[in-house]
Amino acid sequence: MSRSVLLLPGDGIGPEIVAEAEKVLHKVNDKFSLGLSFDTALVGGAALDAEDTPLPADTLDKARKADAILLGAVGGPKWDSLPMSNRPEKGLLGLRSNLELFANLRPAILYPQLASASSLKPEVVSGLDILIVRELTGGIYFGQPRGVRQLENGERQGYNTYQYTESEIRRIGRVAFEAAQQRGKKLCSVDKANVLEVTVLWREIMEELKSEYPDVELSHMYVDNAAMQLVKAPKQFDVIVTGNMFGDILSDEAAMLTGSIGMLPSASLNSEKQGMYEPCHGSAPDIAGQGIANPLATIISAAMMLRYSLNEDEAAAAIEAAVSKVLDQGLRTADIMSEGGQKVSTREMGEAVLNAL
Ligand code: NAD
Repeated sequence: MSRSVLLLPGDGIGPEIVAEAEKVLHKVNDKFSLGLSFDTALVGGAALDAEDTPLPADTLDKARKADAILLGAVGGPKWDSLPMSNRPEKGLLGLRSNLELFANLRPAILYPQLASASSLKPEVVSGLDILIVRELTGGIYFGQPRGVRQLENGERQGYNTYQYTESEIRRIGRVAFEAAQQRGKKLCSVDKANVLEVTVLWREIMEELKSEYPDVELSHMYVDNAAMQLVKAPKQFDVIVTGNMFGDILSDEAAMLTGSIGMLPSASLNSEKQGMYEPCHGSAPDIAGQGIANPLATIISAAMMLRYSLNEDEAAAAIEAAVSKVLDQGLRTADIMSEGGQKVSTREMGEAVLNAL
């Protein structure tokens, strides 16, 4: 049975890193006879330039039909002055909401070879293995009403709405409890229940779910404390579950514990396990076009895609082993460069993974 993968390179370094992941996918497709077919479409700024919309109908149609999607990144200064409703990021948010990709899984794993790349002391981070489960289609990023309005006194006021329904909280809670069951059986729910009513409800629902997962130890933490604990004693965490905005921030913080955001994959899944896979980082306009971006987060995202949406564990493990091997060989893009490493370009890193496969 043929399965289809949609590639969405996007903007900035997106096309450079997706090109390397694509080569890796072609290689495992042949090697493991996966029967994958590939298609490509425009999203974000690239789509705005070509079709005046960040999410063309053709892209959405292809995304709906695909078994899995691999995205690079969207956005960049070129489009920053556009109205919010027509920014590249709308393409990404539109894909997430149209495909109901409500569960964002972001592992933060410290590869032993990169322990010295972390800004924290090796003893604080070595062996780090956290999974952040972030709610992705609700919360303040989607809540209505929103906007900037004129007040009677002539002043402008910006406003957004932070809201979650019980069912939205329950379904992300279940994903997190199930993930914890498969890992260290510890789940920390992060909220701001001392200030925000919406997260009082969040906490209540997480407590309700606890009885369905008696083997998982549930704890709660305020988001400000969680931000501190992540840099103070990150290894206390196994799985963290939180809402869209807190998850956005905490997962970037967790990413830095591992040395480089250029190493971290992510998966966004819907209830049918259809998924969009992408690196945690953005389009890195500061280094776009220079051939120095780290393609590994995208390549590891491709491995996650094989595992979670396409049920191809063996091919996924082969990619992960190949990544570990190139790190063992001392190959490093600039963002993870450390003493004794051999600096390589985006393409050279991709080629090294291909050779290791
Ligand atoms: P960013 O993640 O693009 O970059 C932050 C820093 O990390 C930069 O110094 C960059 O050079 C570096 N970096 C990121 N990825 C790297 C890689 N693979 N290899 C080496 N270094 C890497 O975040 P930003 O600068 O805040 O945002 C830039 C643009 O990306 C903005 O337009 C933003 O809206 C967009 N963005 C998109 C996504 C997405 O597509 N999922 C996510 C975040 C930001």
